[in-house]
Amino acid sequence: AIRVEGLSKTFDTAAVLHDFDLDVRAGELLGLLGPSGSGKTTLLRIIAGLDFPDRGRVLFGGDDATGLPVQKRAVGFVFQHYALFKHMSVADNIAYGLNARKRAERPDKAEIKRRVGDLLDLIKLSGFADRYPSQLSGGQRQRVALARALAVEPRVLLLDEPFGALDAQVRKDLRRWLREIHDRTGQTTIFVTHDQDEALELSDRVAVLDKGRLEQVGTPDEVQDNPASATVLKFLGDAV
Ligand code: ATP
Repeated sequence: AIRVEGLSKTFDTAAVLHDFDLDVRAGELLGLLGPSGSGKTTLLRIIAGLDFPDRGRVLFGGDDATGLPVQKRAVGFVFQHYALFKHMSVADNIAYGLNARKRAERPDKAEIKRRVGDLLDLIKLSGFADRYPSQLSGGQRQRVALARALAVEPRVLLLDEPFGALDAQVRKDLRRWLREIHDRTGQTTIFVTHDQDEALELSDRVAVLDKGRLEQVGTPDEVQDNPASATVLKFLGDAV
């Protein structure tokens, strides 16, 4: 499980997270939902170790990870603009995190090949190992990015609007497919979106943020049936 406690973060003079607490359960798909500027990306970056809080702690399975850099956290992430490496094949992109490990921690070549093959099956792109990113559609690229993130067997998978740039139909297909992959792998996942329907449809639980505070966390039914505040009600009011 992942836990953040008392996180505060200020950029210049603006407070972005205020004394923020959240528990993420092992194996769940947690959706982070909230208006633009509510602090979703900042929270994800702090959990990843791409940014650091002014106050508070990040715990991975009870271990304090607050000061650890991203390379030491065993996290996988897909950000909307976190592109694939253009000069590397699909297989090399997926294997990137494994090949980047120190020799003693790196699986051998055959093992890496096996893992890449399994991931290609999982994202339904077997046969695409030797292609280059320019030969893939936008949706296929995001699937490869997801396989790359999963390759390192992360303690937590962090997705920041991973389908944000794609058209509505592709987005819908990828949503269903992400849920399927999650059900098969049981990978603990935090998923950022500003799309209410997407969060409510996909998540085991949703956390609603507003102005750097956690307004409510619960199952989609709980937050819809019993919104904890006027802000949650207003924000979910647009969802169908
Ligand atoms: P969106 O849905 O628009 O992506 P968000 O909920 O992810 O928004 P954040 O990206 O976490 O929100 O940003 C929260 C606030 O922090 C915003 O007001 C943003 O301008 C500010 N902010 C984020 N990163 C920085 C930075 N590196 N320097 C200064 N301000 C920042």
